[in-house]
Amino acid sequence: MIVVMKAGATAAEIGAVVSRVEAIGLNPHPIVGTERTVVAVVGDERPVDPESFQVMAGVEKVMIVLHPFKLASRDTKSENTVISLNGTQIGGPRLVLMAGPCSVEDRQQLMETAFAVKEAGATILRGGAYKPRTSPYSFQGLGLKGLELLAEAREATGLRIVTEVMTPEAVPLVSQYADILQLGARNMQNYGLLHAVGEAQKPVLLKRGMMSTVEELLMSAEYILSHGNYRVMLCERGIRTFERYTRNTFDLSAVPVLKQLSHLPVIADPSHGTGRWELVASMSKAAVAAGADGLIIEVHPHPEQAVSDGAQSLKPEKFAALVTELRRVAQAVDRTL
Ligand code: PEP
Ligand code: MN
Repeated sequence: MIVVMKAGATAAEIGAVVSRVEAIGLNPHPIVGTERTVVAVVGDERPVDPESFQVMAGVEKVMIVLHPFKLASRDTKSENTVISLNGTQIGGPRLVLMAGPCSVEDRQQLMETAFAVKEAGATILRGGAYKPRTSPYSFQGLGLKGLELLAEAREATGLRIVTEVMTPEAVPLVSQYADILQLGARNMQNYGLLHAVGEAQKPVLLKRGMMSTVEELLMSAEYILSHGNYRVMLCERGIRTFERYTRNTFDLSAVPVLKQLSHLPVIADPSHGTGRWELVASMSKAAVAAGADGLIIEVHPHPEQAVSDGAQSLKPEKFAALVTELRRVAQAVDRTL
């Protein structure tokens, strides 16, 4: 249920609604918009009588949100969420580019990639220090050393850092180094981790599980939002289908669907979405045309030597050429880059 306050509702009137929600054992989430405040009411609403809120001072109307995701829903908040990150805005008119290697391998690889993607126009550097690998015998990441190298790259380039956190226990440590916490596809329904990043003071990039529906993705986002961390980005990274020509089936339609259902920024990952570097440029352009707020793309100076995901990694010069093309696509859909 959401309680929509009148445009001129006073702080005291909003406070009275919040207190009443608490008094009946539910959780109020006041969302301040440019015109009015709405108080989203979450918890088990079954015994609540909407009429009892309707009559309160300053209340315009009470609406029932039919979707199971409440705080993530556009019914609750019609304006796009814009996440500010040291000068970079995610979800605003300007598209955001996140780029870098799948895994942080060593200083030389990371620095070379970081300077190249920055030069091309990226503002956020990606790189895994903790890697969720299908096989326990594959490279598992450099761990703390990887985080330290990412921090060094941020210092040297001014790029912000997005990197994956795999366990609730690691959230405090990874938060010390990362600007954005990445939750990987394999962990989209790791509820302990969703609670933990909900409590963290960092934006979260939540990747869609490889066998998860759009609604399940939004319900996972809801866990994070329900803890009061509203800085969540949704990431389409491809789902598993019967098709084997591509690594995953990049669900391009999920981009406009998510934009329609939710106010949260949507980031597309055409690297994992296709698994093949030759397809990354087309799918990047398609994602921007479809309304994505940004892209996360794997870039490696020597893809043939990459310890993970070399087949889907762009060389820096290919990435730079793609950014030039993306600027034209962005313009066509009234965005900038
Ligand atoms: C990654 O970003 O390198 C990664 C492991 O992604 P996903 O969780 O989407 O597989
Ligand atoms: Mn990868």
